[in-house]
Amino acid sequence: MASPPARFVATSDLVSVRASGGVPRRGRAGRRTVCSDPFEHDRKVARVVHDLRARRSIRPLVRQKRAASHMVARPHDRRRTDDKLDIRDLNAILAIDPAARTCVAEPGVTFVDLVAATLPYGLAPAVVPELETITIGGAVAGGSIESTSFRHGGFHDTCLAYEVVTATGEVLTCTPDDDPLIFEMMHGTFGTLGVLTKLTFRLIPARPWVHVVHQRFDQLDAFLAAMRAHQRADDVDFMDGMIHAPDELVLTVGRFVDEAPASAGAPAGRDTGEAYLTTEAYYFRDRGVGHGKRWFRVGALRRIGQWFQRLVRADRPDLTLDVMVPLSRAPTFLAWYQRTIGHYPVGCTPYRPGHRYEWLAPAVFAGVTDDLYVDLAVAGAAQPAGRNYYRELERALAGFGGVKTLGSHNYYDEHEFWRTWNQPNYARVKRRTDPHNVLRDLYDKTCRASQGRA
Ligand SMILES: Cc1cc2nc3c(=O)[nH]c(=O)nc-3n(C[C@H](O)[C@H](O)[C@H](O)COP(=O)(O)OP(=O)(O)OC[C@H]3O[C@@H](n4cnc5c(N)ncnc54)[C@H](O)[C@@H]3O)c2cc1C
Repeated sequence: MASPPARFVATSDLVSVRASGGVPRRGRAGRRTVCSDPFEHDRKVARVVHDLRARRSIRPLVRQKRAASHMVARPHDRRRTDDKLDIRDLNAILAIDPAARTCVAEPGVTFVDLVAATLPYGLAPAVVPELETITIGGAVAGGSIESTSFRHGGFHDTCLAYEVVTATGEVLTCTPDDDPLIFEMMHGTFGTLGVLTKLTFRLIPARPWVHVVHQRFDQLDAFLAAMRAHQRADDVDFMDGMIHAPDELVLTVGRFVDEAPASAGAPAGRDTGEAYLTTEAYYFRDRGVGHGKRWFRVGALRRIGQWFQRLVRADRPDLTLDVMVPLSRAPTFLAWYQRTIGHYPVGCTPYRPGHRYEWLAPAVFAGVTDDLYVDLAVAGAAQPAGRNYYRELERALAGFGGVKTLGSHNYYDEHEFWRTWNQPNYARVKRRTDPHNVLRDLYDKTCRASQGRA
């Protein structure tokens, strides 16, 4: 039997991150990941507050963080010329509590550094996006989903408290009990309601290996039924799928295990058979280990950054986005998708929202009784001349109780937009946290400015 990774040693008696013996440790990209000075965070936040209060300009303001953004590149994005609020130093893990299974960290911490810091305690974040450099702040503000989402929802559903600095420089601590609406609305509002400066979130027990099994189907109904059966039986730790064609579907399930055969670590074939991966290799499969998945085609391109943006056709960008539909409506939605767009593969990840999210309008949930949704991810579908797949999806989704993520191209008109997103809740929090609208309004940021519209 192969040994578990040497550094994966569960400990039980460390209460906060003092493991570095007072010396900050460095993450993979050389960033400081563990902070042992309890006052350093407060000094950083005081600097952010000072910068906000000293500001006289009324130009829009965006955060400048250290890790690269994972929003889909948009060639005429006006936000690139917005003023910058420097939060590049907010990237430390402040505490890991193995007994309570919680972690406190700054928003710029990347998932790869977080996983590296928590695994030695036998713990991991409950939801780990598969791209290493997605940050915890971005995962809350922009949304996140992964193969544990059938159990835990999005990363934000595992959060217990946020420290938020408002646009006027006020520091708030929000929890589901204290300032609950601000707490809930920080998710999915793309940083337009304040700056996340500290997050407290749950960790789950993790083991050294993940045993991955691919199950093949030739019918959507059987594929979705298997997904539902695993969720009800709660007999797997990880679950996601890939629709290669309407009659070629692969459900991938994973279970934490303590040991693996000597051959472990070898990738499985193209969505067939089984594999044993170290837990870290499983989390960051985008590096080419195991099966490719959602966003996989654009993953490498995204890192090329500005250069890539010039190549993206402004008038007809490829279709790269996630949509979320209730599980019971997935068959009719996918039949529409096959007739209308028909691009494959489509990533398919089951997602159980923690509750009916406050940032969505009640109309979105009308007639929906599902507790489980599926996130459907498309990457790199070329659009034929005269078509706008994004717009067609926006119109169609309303009829399916579905929602599109806003991290890609958006063409909603304002009235239509606020039929899906919850304007009364948004306006209530906006008045409190950004009364002068320096962080842009959600519609303006995601549908107008990002599309290059004034
Ligand atoms: C190529 C690609 C691959 C992806 N892969 C995955 C995946 O595997 N799993 C998954 O779940 N998602 C994935 N996504 C989606 C991704 O998780 C979201 O876009 C997420 O928001 C990106 O976070 P980020 O750290 O890159 O933040 P950014 O892209 O920098 O920011 C996202 C949004 O959050 C806001 N924000 C960032 N930090 C803060 C803060 N401190 N306070 C307030 N607002 C803030 C920003 O203003 C912005 O509006 C992918 C996206 C792309 C383009």
